Amino acid sequence: MPETTIDVLDKGFIALDGALASDLAVVNGARVSFNQESDELSERDEGLIRFLIRERHGSPFEHGYFRFLVKAPLFVVREHHRHRAGHSYNEWSGRYSKMEAEFYVPDNVRTQVGKPGSYAFEPVDDAIREATRQEIEENAARAFETYERLLEQGVAKEVARTVLPLSTYTKYYWSCNPRSLMHFCGLRNHESAQFEIRQYAAAAESFLERLMPITHAAFVGNERRAP
Ligand SMILES: Cc1cc2nc3c(=O)[nH]c(=O)nc-3n(C[C@H](O)[C@H](O)[C@H](O)COP(=O)(O)OP(=O)(O)OC[C@H]3O[C@@H](n4cnc5c(N)ncnc54)[C@H](O)[C@@H]3O)c2cc1C
Repeated sequence: MPETTIDVLDKGFIALDGALASDLAVVNGARVSFNQESDELSERDEGLIRFLIRERHGSPFEHGYFRFLVKAPLFVVREHHRHRAGHSYNEWSGRYSKMEAEFYVPDNVRTQVGKPGSYAFEPVDDAIREATRQEIEENAARAFETYERLLEQGVAKEVARTVLPLSTYTKYYWSCNPRSLMHFCGLRNHESAQFEIRQYAAAAESFLERLMPITHAAFVGNERRAP
């Protein structure tokens, strides 16, 4: 695992596969309006980044990209791929190649209390947790056995895969620009987001913080609202 890979959940990860992202590019994207350019980031430039985020001048944050390789369970992917503006995805196809028997088995088994729109999640007791984990594991193993049996009988992969559970791991490339990444993190690295996608969003956000520290600090200082 390279340094740019962060393990997520029990078998997943998010890896930064490539990036063209800097605070300086944001500043120069804005300063070109006045036919000006900075060679290195000054305090004044840092103030400009905070101003751009606060006043929702978003386009200077679009001149960069992050390319990630992500391994995640299907139900996380469904949530992730709802993010459209400034995001691109290419995913492993269960039509063209056989899926692998890798399934998410949650450590964080919780119960839901409250009413629609304002649920809270609390841990279940150890006995229920263990029983739940076992059920999920056994169910996934059974589903994969069926999947393989159907394939052996000559059923097409695109049909056989329909028996696989939402916990099945898949892989995909995800590219986005800094503005769209902030929007994603504002929504998904948030207490209202499901625990599992939040782990991926937190990992993705750590790459934003690493490569664009001033932009990230301004985003956090703006109540985590993207411009
Ligand atoms: C906690 C949580 C719970 C959710 N629950 C559900 C749910 O129960 N059911 C469900 O279906 N989805 C649900 N979603 C998904 C949610 O509705 C969004 O699809 C998802 O968060 C992507 O947000 P977005 O559209 O702002 O992002 P993007 O698709 O990246 O869009 C970014 C921004 O671009 C603009 N934009 C993009 N497309 C359009 C468009 N077609 N027209 C106008 N403006 C556009 C908007 O300003 C938008 O905010 C949930 C999301 C969260 C975070």
